[in-house]
Amino acid sequence: MTEQPEYDVVIVGGGAAGLAAAIYAVRAMLKTLVIEKTALGGEILKTGDIENYPGFPEGINGPDLAALYEGQARRFGTEFAYDTVVRLDVGGKVKRVVGDEREYTARTVIIATGGEHNKLEVPGEEEYAGKGVSYCATCDGNFFRGMDVVVVGGGDAAMDEGLYLTRLVNRVTVVHRRDQLRASKILQQRGFDNPKMDFIWDSVVEEISGNGEVDAVTLKNIKTGEASKMAAQGVFIYIGFHPVSDYLQGVVELDNAGHVKTSLQMETNVPGVYAAGDIRQFSDRQLGNAVGDGIAAALAAYRYIQEQAGEE
Ligand code: NAP
Repeated sequence: MTEQPEYDVVIVGGGAAGLAAAIYAVRAMLKTLVIEKTALGGEILKTGDIENYPGFPEGINGPDLAALYEGQARRFGTEFAYDTVVRLDVGGKVKRVVGDEREYTARTVIIATGGEHNKLEVPGEEEYAGKGVSYCATCDGNFFRGMDVVVVGGGDAAMDEGLYLTRLVNRVTVVHRRDQLRASKILQQRGFDNPKMDFIWDSVVEEISGNGEVDAVTLKNIKTGEASKMAAQGVFIYIGFHPVSDYLQGVVELDNAGHVKTSLQMETNVPGVYAAGDIRQFSDRQLGNAVGDGIAAALAAYRYIQEQAGEE
């Protein structure tokens, strides 16, 4: 007798892409499991106000939106497991998803594990992680009420989170390695207009120092070579993002940066295996795109399962 997998769809990763996929999969009457390592919601858990997601003209708080996604997925019968997926064995008809806790079997797999924030890799960054160094203003901003903090980076994340911090802290100094921000114009303008936000251009953080907790950063102007030390009790690092795909090496086709290559239908090179959201090659890393990817992946998985059933 041929082995019957436990699930129609196993979704690896419970961020926006994974939860959107789950909502569509369960509503297509597919037995669906979402495996999440830490907390359901993914990147939006680290975002205060989301102002560019259509349908919420006043903005919506990231963790609140994550809870809505989760509730909607649960309402229609999605199952959840908290586990770290370490390996996929997906060459056969029955796909095996191997976690630290146990192994799961499915007809299809949707990979939606997103990515992680890049590190500066300077002295003090690791030592002071959680003691003044943070990658999440929404999570940690409250600890820095009334203090002076540095935000490193010039992209949307640095601006978004830096602006959020201005509501809590005394002063936000953005340290950027060029003399122009990469962030969208609207965020740039808000930053320039905010009296609590300063900018240090053409500069990088060379060291984070302190005495048990962060009390200063050493900066270097990359045009003049001049070094300086600046007092700060917090350092928030937003210098980009890389996909979490080590466990996918040799499993599905990846690009040089580790993103999963997919078709427009979110198909990987392995039949029955899909990828959605920030882990996908050419993702714009926007919430709306992640949701759309998740939906497309669930629909593709549904079609694949129908085709397979027709062949049996
Ligand atoms: P990003 O757009 O890649 O920006 C990274 C920033 O960090 C750049 O300014 C870059 O400088 C700087 N940087 C990179 N490596 C560095 C290093 N080693 N030392 C110092 N600085 C360094 O990353 P992101 O801001 O995380 O955003 C990623 C994606 O998510 C984007 O597509 C963004 O639109 C999206 N996102 C959107 C929103 C929003 O719409 N509100 C919010 C968050 C994220 P250079 O400019 O010189 O390269």
